[in-house]
Amino acid sequence: MTVIRGATTIPCDSAEEIKKAVKELLEQIESRNGLKRDEIVSLVFSSTSDIHSYYPAKAAREAGFASCSLFSAQEPDIDGGLPLCIRAMLFVGKNLAPSHVYLRGARVLRKDLADKINIAIDGPAGSGKSTVAKALARDFNILYLDTGAMYRACALKALEAGVDTEDEAAIVDLMKDVKLDVVYEDGVQKTLLDGRDVSEDIRKPPVSMAASAVSKLPSVRMHMTEKQREIAGRMSCVLDGRDIGTFVLPEADFKFYLTASPRVRAKRRFDELTAKGYQVDPDELLTEIIRRDEQDSTRSLAPLKRADDAVEIDTSDLTAEEVLALVKQKIGEKI
Ligand code: C5P
Repeated sequence: MTVIRGATTIPCDSAEEIKKAVKELLEQIESRNGLKRDEIVSLVFSSTSDIHSYYPAKAAREAGFASCSLFSAQEPDIDGGLPLCIRAMLFVGKNLAPSHVYLRGARVLRKDLADKINIAIDGPAGSGKSTVAKALARDFNILYLDTGAMYRACALKALEAGVDTEDEAAIVDLMKDVKLDVVYEDGVQKTLLDGRDVSEDIRKPPVSMAASAVSKLPSVRMHMTEKQREIAGRMSCVLDGRDIGTFVLPEADFKFYLTASPRVRAKRRFDELTAKGYQVDPDELLTEIIRRDEQDSTRSLAPLKRADDAVEIDTSDLTAEEVLALVKQKIGEKI
């Protein structure tokens, strides 16, 4: 059994606003936790005493949440409390790392989250995400979570086992017995696959395309997303990936979306790989980057996409130091 919390506010006390806000809140809780509707056992609402026009439980039933038990209550007035606020508590019949959802200014209710910051940095391969994410984590003394490494580890396992990376059933089967861990040694992320440190192996060129293929599979994505939310829920961190601001942590405190031209990104990858001693063809790298962009941005679940509220930075003509300075400036403006 898992309990998921949520809250939202309405601009005025009307039946229409209550119905809209309840529907939005429940749908967000559902999608951020990868829930199926019949997994919801019961739903409890409370609303502040300035809300009279509609019963949130009734709004929930009308929004299609009809197979669970529903209950609404009114809260007493509290000095300085958030006005026109609806809180929800959802009981789910399975164990998961819950992603609590606070919408429309209700985030201030979670004082326990107030000191924790999550920074989401998304963008395509070679846009400079990991460089800026690592530097930010170092300067703010928070954790850096490289989410791509998790998909890469899954891909490496499939390649080593000779399993087709497009075959969802076979990959799910394979992942059942896999132990994937992300650990930190001297602040550096190490990716462990069945206890073996694969941090270097997952960077090998064939793993990149395979990671993009396995990351399309919904069950793999939900598994990784759950792990990422669990880590981000516990501590301040900067996460880089493709879907952090849009899907994994839509309520992240700061969101950035980095881009750069495919040619610049391919050149960066070329320099990175040749410095590690790999023999790579620059034209092949460019083709791979373009194919990976296409595959990552067209998948149905959580595709590579800029979140509406993310700050976009084109890094094509910027140095890593310039990107970092810009990101810190934007964070400073918002704090
Ligand atoms: O960022 P990196 O190149 O290590 O990611 C490898 C692949 O993993 C990406 O091409 C993408 O398909 C997938 N990925 C993802 N979502 C993330 C991070 C990576 O789909 N959050």
